[in-house]
Amino acid sequence: MHPLAYDRLKKVLKVEVKNKKLVGPDETCDYYPCHFIGQDCTWCFCPFYPCEDEQTGGECVEKRGGGRIWGCSECYWIHNAEVAEALLESFRRYGIKNADDIVKRKEELKEIFSALKAIYPPVRGNVLYESPY
Ligand code: SF4
Repeated sequence: MHPLAYDRLKKVLKVEVKNKKLVGPDETCDYYPCHFIGQDCTWCFCPFYPCEDEQTGGECVEKRGGGRIWGCSECYWIHNAEVAEALLESFRRYGIKNADDIVKRKEELKEIFSALKAIYPPVRGNVLYESPY
């Protein structure tokens, strides 16, 4: 996992999962809105990365220096408040408490990913669910 993602997820799991609260749209971020206005920024660094599931809107893209990398810029799914909230709840239920758990518990992460996708099927390029903000 990239060190920036690790640090961010460490903070989210320490604060947001414990407080049962989403970050919401972070308008103080220089990149906001990187996906859509009203997006939830809790999972700015996605715990499922790289999911390699094109149904989310993510896809393999060319890297500047050559080669290919998994790109998430067209994935709106995880930034949808309902999906973000359901993921927070799943982490609480599974007892996933820190960034190391995300690194080590890959099989459970896959299980959570599939379960969330079944309940909240992603639609490419479309914002499906109501934002509470
Ligand atoms: S495409 Fe979406 S769900 Fe998949 S890793 Fe990227 S942000 Fe996460």
